[in-house]
This record gives sequence, structure tokens and C-alpha cells, in this order.
Amino acid sequence: MGKNLSYTAVGLDRAHHRRRDDAWIAGRRADEKTRIVPVWRDRSLISPGAATIEGTPGDTPEAVLLDGKEAQALLAEADHVTLLGLDGDTAYFAADISERDDSARDALAGGGEFHDLRRVGALMAGPEAALLAYARGFMHWHRGHVFCGLCGNPTESHDGGHRRRCANAEDPHNHFPRTDPAVIMLVSHDNPQGNGPACLLGRQSRWAEGMYSTLAGFVEPGETLEEAVAREVLEESGVRVANVEYKASQPWPFPSSLMLGFRVRAETTDIEIDDREVEDAQWFRPEQVRSFGEWGAATPGEKRLPRKDSISRWLIEGWLEDVGA
Ligand SMILES: [Zn+2]
Repeated sequence: MGKNLSYTAVGLDRAHHRRRDDAWIAGRRADEKTRIVPVWRDRSLISPGAATIEGTPGDTPEAVLLDGKEAQALLAEADHVTLLGLDGDTAYFAADISERDDSARDALAGGGEFHDLRRVGALMAGPEAALLAYARGFMHWHRGHVFCGLCGNPTESHDGGHRRRCANAEDPHNHFPRTDPAVIMLVSHDNPQGNGPACLLGRQSRWAEGMYSTLAGFVEPGETLEEAVAREVLEESGVRVANVEYKASQPWPFPSSLMLGFRVRAETTDIEIDDREVEDAQWFRPEQVRSFGEWGAATPGEKRLPRKDSISRWLIEGWLEDVGA
């Protein structure tokens, strides 16, 4: 199906075999070619004056990476550092400076501005957005694991930032980067309302006005992906599904999800929403979905599509292609 998903294909060699070589890591950190992806309180460093998807005018956002003296200054101040990988013989690291106040942060920022990737990612070139997403996800994990969740001791970073080990003298616990699986599914039916094929979209009250999206939810312990898909659709809409077909996945580090995208067929068509989870769910015919406004740009009262960088949008566009005109 269609175009590449946002935040995928970061394009670095993750250098898995070198991570445990502390001397090699130290050499890469000190190399003046090394490029740093700075993160401050989950925000990414972007070219100044960049546009945002809420419609703020500005230039196309570009990632600001630091190298040379700027990189060394930032690494010296960083609370957390992770080797992201190699591009040829150039190493990339993420460095978190969340503990710095605004002025210390700006002094280290090399002329960029820190923005929430959710506000600029959809406007960026794919590999850059993927690199920022990768760095953001890693730094979020480090910040949330400075103490051991099992014994409460402080933890230390190892393996180039790919493992944290706690200071428990008797039995140190190892912690590895986490990502939370979430299922997201385009539910379709050939003829739910007697006028041709339609897909099931819903909305939550906290979303942007008028936005409808595919249903989604987190996978629970003891559950297969197929079971999670069926449970979430039933809980949110009252619709029973079958033929759960995997389509694609997307890292979604807001803060730490991996979205697993599916196409599923509805076996029942009556909708009964759980209003604790969704505010509304409806069957929409292709021509209705095509008339939706753009995320962030719809006129009041108009329904709108999910954001362009989301797998929800990708699943909807794939379905529209498949059902044709
Ligand atoms: Zn521990």
C-alpha cells in the first residue's frame, strides 16, 4: 500500500555488535564527526522559525544535529546518552538535557529551537522525523528508569545506553528499552447500511474537533494481537470482527508505543459505543471519508481526517484505494 509510514526507516546501522565495547563508544563520543540528536523534556531540536501542523506559518522544519565543539559541550552536560547507530563511519548519539533550565538549554541548543515532534513531524522529511522519533523514544525510556522498579536502587546506563542496571549489591536488575504494543485497525464491511462498503471510524472527546480515526488500544498481558483487535473493537463500538489481517507497524514514541496496524472485517454492523472510551463511532462510505477536511485545517462543524503522519491515516487511505471510486 501507498507511501511510507512516518517515523519508520531511520536508516542507521544500529551497531548492535559494538554497544558493549566501552572503549569504542568513548572513541565515537569524542570523534568530531559524531552527530548528536539533542532532546529536552521529550522535545526535539528543530530549525528556528519552523512551521507546525497547527498551521503556524514558517519554513519546513528540519532537524538540528550538533557536531564538533557543540556536540562535545552538549555531551558533557547530558543526563542521558544513547548510541543510535552509524551512517558509514559517522556515529549518531541521542543526548538528553532535560535537567537544564531554559537558559542553560538554549546555550546548548546550537541555534535550534526545541519543539514537540508531534507538532512538526508531519511536515518533516521522513528520515529526519524517524531519527528524532528514535532519539525521543530512547530518552523518554532513560528518564523513566533512573530508579529500579523492582528494588528502588538507582540505575546506571550500560551498552551505549541500551541497558540500565541497578545498584543492588546482591542481585542487580537489568532493564532494557521498552515499547508498548498497541493495535490499530481499519474495520470494514461490504454493506453495513444497504448502500455499499463502509469503514468504521470513531472519535474521542479530547481529540481535535471533528476528527474521526480508526479504533485503537493497548495490548494487555496474556492477549494475542488478534484478540486485542477483536476486544478493542467490541468494547469501543459493539461490533464483532473476523479476518484480522496484519498490514504494517509504526513506532509512535508519544511517549512509547509501537502501533500495529490491521485491516479487519466486521461480522456485525450495529454500533453501540462505550462512551468512556469513544464519544462517537459511525460507518462512513468512501465518498464521505473523501469529503473530510484536513487535520488542523477543517472548517468548524466539518469532519476531518487523522493527521498525515499517523498509521490511522495510512490505513484509511489504503482502504480508500482498495474500494476505488
Ligand atoms: Zn533493582
